[in-house]
Amino acid sequence: MRAVIVGAGISGLSVAFRLQQLVPQAQITILESDSRPGGTAWTLREDGFTLEIGPNGFLDSKAFTLQLAKEVGLESRLQAASEAASKNRFLFHRNKLQVLPSGLASLLFSPLLSWRGKLSLFLERFRGKNPLPDGRDSDGEIDESIDAFTRRHTSSEFAEVFADALVTGIFAGDPKRLSLRSCFPRLAELERTHGSVLKGLAQAAKERRQQAKERGERPRRGSQLWSVRDGLRTLVETLSEQLRNPPVFGVGVRRIEKTESEWFVLGDGAKTWPADVVVLTCPAHRQAAMVGDLDQSLADEIAAIPYNRVVVVGLGYRQQDLSRPLDGFGYIASQSTRRDLLGAQWCSSIFPNRAPPGAALIRALAGGWQRPEIADWDDEELLQAARVELRQTMGIAAAPIYQRIIRWPRAIPQYHVGHLARLQHIERHLEKQPGLYLGGNAYRGVALNDCTEQGMLLARRIADECVRRKQ
Ligand SMILES: Cc1cc2nc3c(=O)[nH]c(=O)nc-3n(C[C@H](O)[C@H](O)[C@H](O)COP(=O)(O)OP(=O)(O)OC[C@H]3O[C@@H](n4cnc5c(N)ncnc54)[C@H](O)[C@@H]3O)c2cc1C
Repeated sequence: MRAVIVGAGISGLSVAFRLQQLVPQAQITILESDSRPGGTAWTLREDGFTLEIGPNGFLDSKAFTLQLAKEVGLESRLQAASEAASKNRFLFHRNKLQVLPSGLASLLFSPLLSWRGKLSLFLERFRGKNPLPDGRDSDGEIDESIDAFTRRHTSSEFAEVFADALVTGIFAGDPKRLSLRSCFPRLAELERTHGSVLKGLAQAAKERRQQAKERGERPRRGSQLWSVRDGLRTLVETLSEQLRNPPVFGVGVRRIEKTESEWFVLGDGAKTWPADVVVLTCPAHRQAAMVGDLDQSLADEIAAIPYNRVVVVGLGYRQQDLSRPLDGFGYIASQSTRRDLLGAQWCSSIFPNRAPPGAALIRALAGGWQRPEIADWDDEELLQAARVELRQTMGIAAAPIYQRIIRWPRAIPQYHVGHLARLQHIERHLEKQPGLYLGGNAYRGVALNDCTEQGMLLARRIADECVRRKQ
């Protein structure tokens, strides 16, 4: 079997690695337009600072990325986030940094919610049986926004403070547009199985405690953030090195074509790659351009998946210039506040080796769905805005000793209400294109764990269909 994978981001690399394991005789080629692997997952190492330009790490709540890292031999180089980062996350709310509660008990004492807001949370198990009809997919199932779901289950206050913060931290998107079932399928499932998210979470925690007891382990609260000691770049580079055929860099795929018996992948030069299986894992707009000649309706649906724009501003400071200790993960400023920063991650507090001795590294994020225009600001304007914000939120008045700006014009795909119906449409059209598979973060999850999970599932489907075709 000849498989051509387009894109060497974490999705493309995961498909290739898993397919190589499942079908050892497969000839796998990855075509990548850039000169390096990783896509958005990459690390800059400069002036003694280690700056992630995209994802900061991955959680172990789903262990797909952790497992992959172990399998490629990185177990001894894995790095768990510091205890302070795991404990303290802040929200910039009513002009000050306030600790985000880590559970129900701490919520009870949190100044972030009024007593009415707290009461609404405790009544959650008795509310929320009638979904608001934001939209329905073709099976007639409700596809509801995160905001509507949260209001239905709790209160508008809880939605405005916490749903917005959650969505800002993960999608930098609009909770009134993002689909709950597409973005947080587990919450929708807990509602379906338990009628209440809190009841479902309590039951799941009880089961985890029981399982830990049976294994003789101490039960853990929540999930842990992980990275590799010298940054995620090591993960994608190691994954690339473990492939029998390393990715072919500098090939921007333009189009794919098919004949009766095979596929052809056309690069931006004259070169063409024949294939039995083609897997597209590049961003949606690029995938759409590649399939337009095959099926315009398929291309239109893929192209309609919206992305936000995000800017990452890496700032290094001398420890002595910080007016408060960086004793946590960082803070979020909900998008509804329309501030110039979506928040800041305290990178050298999360992973202590990310700054040289005596210095600290902060990563500010700006833009997002609500403030796309910020991505057009020039560097000077962006740096100035970041400094003004950090002075107001963290009291940092000094100039940074290191600075770096990274712009992502198509940063994170936004699964708006209607995304599930779109996926069904895409699947129906793909049935007419045997041998063509679509992957990447545009469809079923944006976290690294989603990409590595989907990579594994796609590889399994390809391997199964390969066996079926031979029979
Ligand atoms: C700022 C930011 C912060 C994030 N933080 C986190 C986080 O902390 N934790 C987390 O889990 N996730 C995070 N994410 C999300 C996560 O990083 C991404 O969803 C994931 O890395 C996407 O991987 P991918 O392989 O699907 O796509 P990409 O990384 O976009 O890779 C696609 C690849 O396709 C290539 N390509 C494009 N066009 C072509 C073409 N024509 N021909 C050939 N190749 C092409 C690109 O060069 C790229 O290498 C973050 C994302 C961003 C932008």
